[in-house]
Amino acid sequence: MGLVIYNSLTNKLEEFKPLNGNKVNMYVCGPTVYGYIHIGNARPVIFYDMMRRYLKFSGYDVTYASNITDVDDKIINKAIEEGKTEKEIATFFENAYWDSVKMVGSEKPDLIPHATEYIPEMISFIQELEKKGYAYQADGDVFFRVNNVKDYGCLSNQVTEDLESGARISVDSKKENPLDFALWKNTDTGIKWDAPFGSGRPGWHTECVVMNHKLFGDVIDIHGGGMDLKFPHHENEIAQAEACYGSHLAKYWIHVGRLDLKGVKMSKSLGNVIYVKNINSTHDGMVLRCLILFSPYRSIIPYSMELFDQYAKEYDKWCRAYKQALYTLQYEGKSTNDVDSADIEAFKKYMDDDFNVQNVLTLVNEIVKSINTTLRAKDYDALAVKVNTLRTIFNVLGINLFVDPMNDEQLDAYKKWQEARINKDFATADIYRAKLTEWNIL
Ligand SMILES: [Zn+2]
Repeated sequence: MGLVIYNSLTNKLEEFKPLNGNKVNMYVCGPTVYGYIHIGNARPVIFYDMMRRYLKFSGYDVTYASNITDVDDKIINKAIEEGKTEKEIATFFENAYWDSVKMVGSEKPDLIPHATEYIPEMISFIQELEKKGYAYQADGDVFFRVNNVKDYGCLSNQVTEDLESGARISVDSKKENPLDFALWKNTDTGIKWDAPFGSGRPGWHTECVVMNHKLFGDVIDIHGGGMDLKFPHHENEIAQAEACYGSHLAKYWIHVGRLDLKGVKMSKSLGNVIYVKNINSTHDGMVLRCLILFSPYRSIIPYSMELFDQYAKEYDKWCRAYKQALYTLQYEGKSTNDVDSADIEAFKKYMDDDFNVQNVLTLVNEIVKSINTTLRAKDYDALAVKVNTLRTIFNVLGINLFVDPMNDEQLDAYKKWQEARINKDFATADIYRAKLTEWNIL
């Protein structure tokens, strides 16, 4: 059996079987670009990047799409506040977003649809919903009629009555049902587009469905996002897809848990936000990546400085072991393309078990331990294999240890340092040691 994954739509662990051979289409809800992302927002950025890498490693042909919401009330408000255009605000914060993505070691998605590029498609989609009786106009706004979708609530596992009583008593009397959501908002302020139902802008829930469909068709393999998007965003995406395409939009719905700061949800209003842009080194970005990757993906991460320090220690331990091993192997002239097949099999087994990263962490530490033992035992053939195994696993996880092989000058100094040590010429050894330390090799 290959990958087994938890499907939020069925609430079951399921064997992963793509719809179309080994082709995998995945879509993950991206950011609304009106501010900087915090370390909680970085969690899906890291997890789905790892998931894409692992699916590719498992032989799948993956196309990963993640959108940019570049039209929204928050962007418009920010633009007014700063006397800029929505486009200027969105572009600035989108660039900042990609900087943060890079900082935590993730790669850009293959496809990056922007909401504003799909407005005509969204308008015809809304017209289609209207024609089918799933949408109604009210004073220029267009709402989705939730009552017409039989299994509304199927993702969040709630029945409509419960959702209704849970929903705030609607002040918006224009709606037939408090759960109905805006497909199109009639607007006076900010950027707007002309539509048959009046000029305005599309609702957020509509964007993702339309872009998904345009890029991939009626149904995709994986739809991902943070747990907090399950309701109402993803529920509403499903409702629209059911209405228009008769599908649940995706075969597998995957959600990652939140990251809380000392047990409290991070939010600007509480003033407890740590922004990714404030991480001041690629080293710390990678420590954050490790912390997030090695936490069970469906659980809440109780983030704290202590937890960060704990992962910094682990990460530094791996870097030290890897660096020492790599330079020793270079000095000894040993290298290999072989991996320890038992370790790789174990890695696959744990990853296939709904990304059991805790077992992967144990495995990584075992490999690092063998690196240290084989190094001490001067068993360089075995060491080379273990080093290559660790590198292979870290490539799949996107963990970069930032250790480059020595260049000629450095290798020469390294050789002279070793020679001097063997000859007990400590004065010369000290000279080279100083050089190598400066280069961060020792
Ligand atoms: Zn979305």
